[in-house]
Amino acid sequence: MSLLIKDVQLGRETTNVYVEGNRIAEIGPRREADVVIEGKHRLAIPGLVNLHTHAAMTLFRGFGDDMTFQTWFETKMRPLEAKLRPEDIYWGAKLACLEMIKTGTTTFNDMYFHMDQVAKAVKEMGLRAVLAEGLIDGGNPSVGQEALKRVQDVNRKIEALKEDRIVPALAPHAVYTVSKESMLAIKELADKKGYLVHTHLDETRQEVDDCLARTAMRPAQYLDHLGLLMRDLVAAHGCWLDAGEIDLVAKAGARIAHCPVSNMKLSTGQAMPYPALRDAGVVMGLGTDGAASNNNLDMFESMKFAALLQKHAHNMPTVLPAAEAFEMATLGGARALGLDVGLIDVGRLADILLVDLKRPEMTPRHSDLSNLVYAGHGNIVDTVICDGQVLMKGRRVKGEAEIMEKAGTVAKDVVMRE
Ligand SMILES: [Zn+2]
Repeated sequence: MSLLIKDVQLGRETTNVYVEGNRIAEIGPRREADVVIEGKHRLAIPGLVNLHTHAAMTLFRGFGDDMTFQTWFETKMRPLEAKLRPEDIYWGAKLACLEMIKTGTTTFNDMYFHMDQVAKAVKEMGLRAVLAEGLIDGGNPSVGQEALKRVQDVNRKIEALKEDRIVPALAPHAVYTVSKESMLAIKELADKKGYLVHTHLDETRQEVDDCLARTAMRPAQYLDHLGLLMRDLVAAHGCWLDAGEIDLVAKAGARIAHCPVSNMKLSTGQAMPYPALRDAGVVMGLGTDGAASNNNLDMFESMKFAALLQKHAHNMPTVLPAAEAFEMATLGGARALGLDVGLIDVGRLADILLVDLKRPEMTPRHSDLSNLVYAGHGNIVDTVICDGQVLMKGRRVKGEAEIMEKAGTVAKDVVMRE
């Protein structure tokens, strides 16, 4: 199957983008294909990469706002999560996929529970995802052993889908919820199977203080000590990384997912030290985090918040300019996950958005890049192509009314459930 986006704006040029199968085959004069999409008044940009989220938490959107991190996590999220059934996760993930498509995300890095259900939703919705079954053992290694069996079982189910767009991974939740024994077992499994590891790191001051009290090491030092601070690690937040930890992260080649909206909403108390991480050469992307702490999955909003938070935190408007925010949301995330996306170029996977240039937010066109980061929201995206398949055209996604209805019903039921 071939697909042609005709007369589309790509950077400052008007051209044609030709896709064969799931890759971009040509950018240039070609005018014919099996499927032709009119690109006039449209700007082609790479599909966005959400580097840290918990997709199915869309079910908890608007349930438990305006409280401290500990209260939110321990009294709202954990009790609800204990009640979740596989089918709830499926509908929550479907809703998340729908929202991501409608706001231009084509790849996401997800950590949650019953991830085989998320995989099913992703497969049906046509997105690209790295999916990791979250592991929490509350510091009890025997609980961890059982959990790790479940993780392996889920990963086998995901692998059995034989879907190139969906990659299984491992997710020790954080240093404060997972025992040392389980961390080491995860490291061993990651090495053996080549899995990416996805975790939370240095999110709150309390996490750092507790880790210091327990291990005499800061969280990144502790992960390094366990062998988990490595190239194949995506660590979310990194708000409290100090100079020594940044050095360790850079040396290990670990990747950081900046989640500015979630960090501000839960008041993690300090912004991720972006300038120091950048100077150290650390690969960084952007994440929304789950919809319970954001409360949307709109990566356009996260680009703007990242730029604004960093400028504000460092009292310096030159920090994190638009081009860097855009790169974090595209190529940065792609590099962090080791995926061939994040750029519109020949040979790359065909994950492409067409942004509507006939929108007030995109007018005037002094700088499309500035408009994308500082003026636009997800609703400027008109067309979404992922892996060479059209997932949205004219802002319409197949089955969207049913997904919203089912997810709404399920979410209400979970909250009411005894
Ligand atoms: Zn998270």
